[in-house]
Amino acid sequence: MLKKCGKDFFYENHYQMVSQNLEERLRFVLLVAKMGVWEWDVPNNHLSWDDNMFELYGIQKGEFSGRVQDWVNSLFAEDAVETQKKLQESLESGQMFSTQYRIMTPAGDVRNIGARGYVERDPHGEPNRMIGVNWDETTDYEQKRTIENQKIKMVEASRLSSLGEIAGGIAHEINNPLTIILGTSQHLRKLHSRNELAPEVLLEKLAKIESTADRIVRIVKSLKFFARDGSEDLYSHCPLGTIVHETLELCQEKIKNFSVNLSVASIPDVTIECRPVQISQVLLNLLTNAFDAVHDSEEKLIMIEFEVTEKLVRIFVKDSGLGIPNANSEKIFIPFFTTKDIGKGTGLGLSLSKGIIESHGGRLTFLANLKMTTFVIELPKVHHK
Ligand code: ADP
Repeated sequence: MLKKCGKDFFYENHYQMVSQNLEERLRFVLLVAKMGVWEWDVPNNHLSWDDNMFELYGIQKGEFSGRVQDWVNSLFAEDAVETQKKLQESLESGQMFSTQYRIMTPAGDVRNIGARGYVERDPHGEPNRMIGVNWDETTDYEQKRTIENQKIKMVEASRLSSLGEIAGGIAHEINNPLTIILGTSQHLRKLHSRNELAPEVLLEKLAKIESTADRIVRIVKSLKFFARDGSEDLYSHCPLGTIVHETLELCQEKIKNFSVNLSVASIPDVTIECRPVQISQVLLNLLTNAFDAVHDSEEKLIMIEFEVTEKLVRIFVKDSGLGIPNANSEKIFIPFFTTKDIGKGTGLGLSLSKGIIESHGGRLTFLANLKMTTFVIELPKVHHK
């Protein structure tokens, strides 16, 4: 037998060493990453697993038949359909198979498995083999879920805290009309007892009672409108005027009661495609901030103005308060940034508002260096044909 020598011998040995080394390294990486390797013999519909796969699925080697259906059966039913669909798509398109699904191990542990794989084809282009990896994503998944849950709770907390503020203000909103109704009916009673109640006076006073009661109905309606979580609402075409009026119903009385001068410019006749409750929440948040800002200042003025361009509508909320120092103007949209007392501010209003407006394809900005503190909501308007 002819022995290899010289260069050939060196290269072959070297190659063997390198490939052995590579394989070892790869095995080491898979072991450390707790990644399992699977191989699917497509024509014979048989799955082969390495040791890590058995570990991931929490079963012994002899307990897996290698049938694809048995693997599918170990997946959560809701995830199995989607996973099979992706597998099929990958076989057809040749694109990387990439998905996640949940499994329940025989010991009852729920695991989130990440999966990737690619297809190999025979010379006729038929899928021949699919090879891929599985890994345990349970911790990542749980962390993501915890963060998601916390985010939902934060949004809810902020909404409730502004609801709390509104509830405080609503006393003002409703007390005024109630006083008018009570006063008017007492006046009617007095006139009646003196036999001085002329029919036209009765009608006039009743009309006053009705219109004042109507105001309470509108306030309660606005409160119901606002108290809903609008984040799941469908987008609808809503006149800008409706949103502004619904919002003002909830705060204008409180604003006026503290001798704040509220000036609302004429509202342009435009429609926006939006979740109206959410836009109202943003506007109310800006008005609440403006109210807090002027509350203790000498000049108490809040202005709402509008601008309409070909594509946009801009809502300006301005106040005559002390303003926002330059050092803070970058921070005000950051979640939890607040300069308000504990229990008063959450520091979430502006950051949530910005998110809401951006999800509507618009922008919420603070205009620095103006005489009045000015925030602008910019939203695309609906084009009427
Ligand atoms: P919060 O009102 O709960 O503090 P926001 O996110 O709505 O949360 O506001 C963050 C901060 O931005 C406020 O604490 C305040 O310092 C500043 N800010 C917002 N609006 C105004 C305003 N109109 N005038 C002065 N400062 C404001």
